[in-house]
Amino acid sequence: MELVFLGTGAGNGVPEFYCNCRVCKEAWEDPRYRRTRCAVALCGEGNLLFDAPPELSSQLLREQLSRIDCFFLTHAHHDHCAALGDLELYARFHRKERLPSVMSSETLEELQSRHGSVEEWMDVVPIQPGETVHRFGVSITAVEVAHSRGTLGYLIDTRAERTAYLPDTGPLPHRMRDLLTGIENLILDATFWEENWYPGKHLAFEQTIQTARELNVGVLYLTHLSMHYGKPVTSQEIESAIEPYGGKVRLAYDGLRISLG
Ligand SMILES: [Zn+2]
Ligand SMILES: [Zn+2]
Repeated sequence: MELVFLGTGAGNGVPEFYCNCRVCKEAWEDPRYRRTRCAVALCGEGNLLFDAPPELSSQLLREQLSRIDCFFLTHAHHDHCAALGDLELYARFHRKERLPSVMSSETLEELQSRHGSVEEWMDVVPIQPGETVHRFGVSITAVEVAHSRGTLGYLIDTRAERTAYLPDTGPLPHRMRDLLTGIENLILDATFWEENWYPGKHLAFEQTIQTARELNVGVLYLTHLSMHYGKPVTSQEIESAIEPYGGKVRLAYDGLRISLG
C-alpha cells in the first residue's frame, strides 16, 4: 500500500501567479519545489482520496490515478474542496453511481448549503471524532482537530503502519493525544514559518516539530506549507533546518510516495 502526497501547499500554493518572492522564484526555477494545495491518496486494493483541492484533476493525472473508490473530506474550505465539481462529473458520468464519501455532519451541512444536494452524487457516511470506518482492509478513524467547525483529520491504520493526516490544525485537543501517541507517521500542518497568523487554527514550524516530539511519533511529515505567508522560507532552507533530526522530520513534496506495508 502506498500513500501519495498529491499536494503539500497551504491555501495559497507555490508559486502564486501574483507573487515574485524568492520562494516563488525557487519554485519557478525548479518544479520540484512547486506546491499545489493539500491532498493525499492511499493506493491499495481500493484508492482512497483525502481532500479535493483546486488542482485535483492535474494531481491525479500526474500520479496516473484513474479511479477513486472512497473520498474523505477534512473540511469545506476552498483549498480542500474546490474540486468537488470534478468529483461530481466523475461520479455522475463515469462511475454512474454515487461516490462513497466520509466527512463530519457539520461539513456535510456546509456543502449542502453551498452546493445544494450533494447527496445526489455522493453517498455520505457522516463521522464523528473517535469513530472508525473500514474500507478495503484499512481502518480510518476521525480525529478532532483545532481549525473550523466540524474539521477532521484522519488516522489511517493499514495494519502495518498507522498514519495520521492532519493538514489543518492549531494545537491538538488533549483528548486526541492518546489516539496519536506512538504512531508511525504523522502528516501535520506546518503552515507558518516563524510568525503564526492564526495560532488557534494552524501551526508554525517549531510547534509542528514540538507536537511530533510530544506524541513520540516515528516520522513527521511537514505539509500544508504556506512558504510565503509572512517571512518567505525556501524549501532548501527548511531542509537545512530539519537536518539535525536525521530523517525523523521530513519535508513533504508534491508526488512524494511512502510505503505503508
Ligand atoms: Zn511568493
Ligand atoms: Zn487548508
